[in-house]
Amino acid sequence: MKIGVIGGGQLGRMLALAGTPLGMNFAFLDPAPDACAAALGEHLRADYGDQDHLRQLADEVDLVTFEFESVPAETVAFLSQFVPVFPSAEALRIARDRLFEKSMFKELGIPTPAFADILSQADLEAAVASIGLPAVLKTRTLGYDGKGQKVLRSAADVAGTFAELGSVPCLLEGFVPFTGEVSLVAVRGRDGETAFYPLVHNTHEAGILRLSVASADHPLQALAEDYAGRVLDKLGYVGVLAFEFFEVDGGLKANEIAPRVHNSGHWTIEGAECSQFENHLRAVAGLPLGSTAKVGESAMINFIGSVPEVPAVLAVEDCHLHHYGKAFKAGRKVGHATLRCSDAATLEKRIAQVQALV
Ligand code: AMP
Repeated sequence: MKIGVIGGGQLGRMLALAGTPLGMNFAFLDPAPDACAAALGEHLRADYGDQDHLRQLADEVDLVTFEFESVPAETVAFLSQFVPVFPSAEALRIARDRLFEKSMFKELGIPTPAFADILSQADLEAAVASIGLPAVLKTRTLGYDGKGQKVLRSAADVAGTFAELGSVPCLLEGFVPFTGEVSLVAVRGRDGETAFYPLVHNTHEAGILRLSVASADHPLQALAEDYAGRVLDKLGYVGVLAFEFFEVDGGLKANEIAPRVHNSGHWTIEGAECSQFENHLRAVAGLPLGSTAKVGESAMINFIGSVPEVPAVLAVEDCHLHHYGKAFKAGRKVGHATLRCSDAATLEKRIAQVQALV
């Protein structure tokens, strides 16, 4: 079976690493000459709107999937005429726009911060008057790793930030005084079967994920699965979907969904019976899903900007290195380490050992 992937970054690369043993081959469409997934499959180097190359991809593969959600809607619609596409155009349409996403949470009875659609400075002033400060202004589309958003704390922020974000359609959200951030990686097969990984506790710095720790028997696991299940069923979703939540007042508030494999699920490569990458491929290919059970105590540490000296990383016991083969650049995700230990105390010690190298 040949899988077409829109995007050729590290997520595409890790999909290919998981799918190759299943007998799958890969083709990646990505305009970047140095797309790091290209080492593991065919690279169609073209823009996402290039219909000649999209048609070539559709002719060559059995199905198409995505490694990022900001794919132009026209690209998805065009491909869908010729080849099965998972997740669906509708799932991508909702997940790429924060207004559609939060409106869906509300419709499904999933708690989420207060929000308002902002198309002008006047909209922003009216929304601040009702939601209050602090609040977070985010571009509706194309934001990632903390880009395209700003916390508003004062009148000066309210006056300047909409223009600073480019005067594009935005969402204003109430600021959530969360006690923690957790994510749930979920998967739904073509036949509607669902499975969920254990909740992961995430730590960000400067808007970028640094550390994910998989939890054992988190008290909010069942609630998170209930919320994610509502979204999966509503969208008739096929593939892996990551759900990010704020932990607040002993409950959960939905922040966002990502219709793809997710950075907070990278630990599953060594830390779960079947990784998020393999399960995504199983789901889109119509194969039985694999077990999402943990096989130890696991955490993932991102390498941002550069990967530490390889021998030093490998010298840490219980540590698995994933080097994406990308050029080092400040703020860029270039690799990660998974730690898989027999107990939580050892895991804590190993996290400190890897963090000391970063
Ligand atoms: P996002 O791109 O929506 O995932 O936001 C990036 C990070 O900003 C989140 O992981 C939170 O740490 C923070 N953040 C986003 N929205 C809010 C909010 N409404 N209240 C408090 N913090 C937020």
